[in-house]
Amino acid sequence: MSFEVPAHVRPIRDRVRRFIEEQIYPVESILERRGDPEAGAMMRRLMDEAKAAGLWALGHPREIGGQGLPFLDYVYVNEVIGRSEPAMVVLGTHSLQDSIMLNLHAAPEWRERYLKPLVAGEVFPSFAMTEPEVASSDPTQLQTSAVLDGDFWVINGRKWFTSGADVAAYTTVMARTEPEAPPHQAFSMIVVPTDTPGYTIVRDVPVMGMHCGHCEVASDHVRVPRSNLLGPRGAGFLIAQQRLGPGRIFHCMRWLGQAQRAFDLMCERANSRVAFGSPLADKQQVQQMIFDTAAEIQACRLLTLDAAHKIDQGDPARVEIGIIKVVGAQMVHNAIDRAIQVFGAKGVSADTPLERMYRAARFARIYDGPDEVHRVSVARQILRAYKKGETWDFGLR
Ligand SMILES: Cc1cc2nc3c(=O)[nH]c(=O)nc-3n(C[C@H](O)[C@H](O)[C@H](O)COP(=O)(O)OP(=O)(O)OC[C@H]3O[C@@H](n4cnc5c(N)ncnc54)[C@H](O)[C@@H]3O)c2cc1C
Repeated sequence: MSFEVPAHVRPIRDRVRRFIEEQIYPVESILERRGDPEAGAMMRRLMDEAKAAGLWALGHPREIGGQGLPFLDYVYVNEVIGRSEPAMVVLGTHSLQDSIMLNLHAAPEWRERYLKPLVAGEVFPSFAMTEPEVASSDPTQLQTSAVLDGDFWVINGRKWFTSGADVAAYTTVMARTEPEAPPHQAFSMIVVPTDTPGYTIVRDVPVMGMHCGHCEVASDHVRVPRSNLLGPRGAGFLIAQQRLGPGRIFHCMRWLGQAQRAFDLMCERANSRVAFGSPLADKQQVQQMIFDTAAEIQACRLLTLDAAHKIDQGDPARVEIGIIKVVGAQMVHNAIDRAIQVFGAKGVSADTPLERMYRAARFARIYDGPDEVHRVSVARQILRAYKKGETWDFGLR
């Protein structure tokens, strides 16, 4: 099995890379000004250009309005999309997980209302699981409740880190609907249009000096029709799991894209900057940073593509996905951290993209489940095999 980008994927991958380098890199600092009208207008213009260039929603299935790139092909394209944070929105890939979730589980009227505009980038989704009052890495503790009153769900509770809720048309809220059921069957997913009375954005939580739209959201007697339920009652965990599995491959490929960008910048800087009579590239400690980063990127890339191949063959690859989430989050953090070090003061200034990338990389060890939770889950699955008298034979995985 080769993990080189397959020949048939290279032309589209190159076109995406060129579009990002030529159209997005030069205006990233404007696009990142959340809420700024100039940024909004520029984002719209670039989205239209991406559509005109045939680069829009490449990985979304055709039946919902995407271009239907096969999963594995899209994985390689996603790696270059990851090089720039705003590229996901510019190229319409940000809605992939939510549109697949709606397509699979929403009632026809909600699919009708949201799916097409969502894939077209006319409306934005958001997803609310995490709550400020409970350790949400253990979602069985979530307190937001939804109770049926006639043909309406009545939702009460508080969420936070509902990313993008400030610009979203709706939020998918994970709420306890079956208080008597076992914990993993007690929660459901319910679609809440963001203009529903009682649903309020409390604040855009500032994170590491930025406002990125990670919102705190209150639901106070929010009433939505019964048909806003996604899938069956009590299927919240199942749907969340379906949503996150392949999503972690995409996250990890994007982190590899970020790491590649940091690596390129670090190597160029090491070759061009002179100190104590020779380029930084000649210093052994800088060479060590290049070595460590190259090794970590390559190892993580092989792990991620191996997990992607397994998923493509119908294996849920739970152990492999848990491993890449942890290794990938650390890898991208280390790569950007070392690049900043090689740049010196310029690395922490806004004159390079590195300081912004670094802050976003720090989030990676927390979102989609903190690393510790993945370590526990991976170790348990492997140990279970040994308890049963089997082994975890890497040669057979
Ligand atoms: C940038 C960003 C975007 C996010 N976007 C969203 C979103 O759109 N929607 C959404 O619902 N959520 C979102 N989240 C929230 C994220 O999913 C949660 O922060 C995460 O699940 C952890 O929950 P918590 O913050 O409540 O941490 P807690 O559950 O309180 O955990 C705190 C810490 O405890 C430790 N810990 C937890 N469990 C264990 C264990 N078993 N063993 C050892 N240590 C452990 C870990 O170090 C962990 O970091 C986002 C978070 C970030 C940072």
